[in-house]
Amino acid sequence: MYLFKKTQALRQFLETYRSKNRSIGFVPTMGALHEGHLSLVRQSLESTQCTVCSIFVNPTQFNEASDLEKYPRTPSQDLTMLYKAGCHVVFMPSPEEVYPTGLDTRIKLDFKGLDQPMEGRFRPGHFDGVAQVVKRLLDIVEPDKLFMGQKDYQQFLIVQHMARTLSIPTEVVMSPIVREKSGLAMSSRNQRLGPEQREQAAALHQTLLQVEKWMAEFPPREVEQMALQALQQPGLEPEYFQLVDGQTLQPVSDYESPAAIVACAAIWVGGVRLIDNMILK
Ligand code: AMP
Repeated sequence: MYLFKKTQALRQFLETYRSKNRSIGFVPTMGALHEGHLSLVRQSLESTQCTVCSIFVNPTQFNEASDLEKYPRTPSQDLTMLYKAGCHVVFMPSPEEVYPTGLDTRIKLDFKGLDQPMEGRFRPGHFDGVAQVVKRLLDIVEPDKLFMGQKDYQQFLIVQHMARTLSIPTEVVMSPIVREKSGLAMSSRNQRLGPEQREQAAALHQTLLQVEKWMAEFPPREVEQMALQALQQPGLEPEYFQLVDGQTLQPVSDYESPAAIVACAAIWVGGVRLIDNMILK
């Protein structure tokens, strides 16, 4: 496994792969790796010839300084996990490498409303930061395939929209959500939960599992209210629970017309914010 910290060195190295027509798969992460991240790495290993994983806690996508500060960082453990998984290349740049002085990396794109609801509403500016870092990393790595988790469904759609709109020749591939035994979606932020909080947080997945049943009987707004009520449990504070069109992220008004329906939710457990979702149609 090769480890790069400098953009130029990574680009030169990948150029040798590209010149031999070897396909490159890319898995961008913010580190504090878990099985969810490794599932993306494995998917990349299966379908491309060179897998690059980046570890970079991107400051521009955090709308709260304290959240950025508290974000877990476990670099040496991450490297061991990636090595054992068989990852070929790790990119661990400093903020100066990603955002060098004099380079304007900001992205101003019309996201066609994809950035407005849910995470966009509760984390203003978050998706501008996500688009900025993903575009910059894609410019550096120039992968054939980009692997992203369904866990961040809204983020996936936004990155896919950006790739299409800017005609970036990278296929954006969605990977399923990896969960703990309790059903809790794996997340780097779970490291900040105590044992009791982990148990409480499992209610989010349990509620998502109920939704399909409720949909057979109740209209969308009622189902959302039922889910929010189910999440009103000791230690939990739901932020949103929405049934949205899986392509536009607009609220669904019926279950027949949208081609895809996704239930998306965010909750607070103690001081930790967790998101999860389920594709229902
Ligand atoms: P992060 O390090 O949180 O920015 O996540 C890096 C990538 O891993 C993103 O594409 C996430 O959607 C994906 N990811 C995070 N958690 C999971 C999970 N539990 N299952 C599958 N993919 C995940």
